[in-house]
Amino acid sequence: MSDTQTPTKIQKTAAEWRAELTPEQFHVMFEKGTERAFTGALVNNHADGIYHCGACNAPLFTSDTKFESGSGWPSFWTPITPDAVEAHEDRAYGMKRVEITCATCGAHLGHVFPDGPRPTGERYCINSASLAFDKK
Ligand SMILES: [Zn+2]
Repeated sequence: MSDTQTPTKIQKTAAEWRAELTPEQFHVMFEKGTERAFTGALVNNHADGIYHCGACNAPLFTSDTKFESGSGWPSFWTPITPDAVEAHEDRAYGMKRVEITCATCGAHLGHVFPDGPRPTGERYCINSASLAFDKK
């Protein structure tokens, strides 16, 4: 996990994203919002498939690594590939957390916490609004 700022592969202005996304998607992904716990469309999704970025459609997570965290947000123990997402230190709200963004477009996805299940011990806590599910 690094804090390096590699340039994202898709660069759009906020106005361009706003025109493409729903107000909730835009708020979560480009204003670093958080949907209310247990309200997201994908919290209880148990179908097999791929979770893509809700903004640029890059594949981010698979159903094989989704688990029930009880947090109220879709939770995964690893991204689909190590470079699909980027980690950034987040000191907002007086907490020290690690923010996760889409490596392709820079959209805010959620946070990663060190209390996940084996084998990684990581819990990627991701907003449903940041994801688009593609059923297998
Ligand atoms: Zn993206």
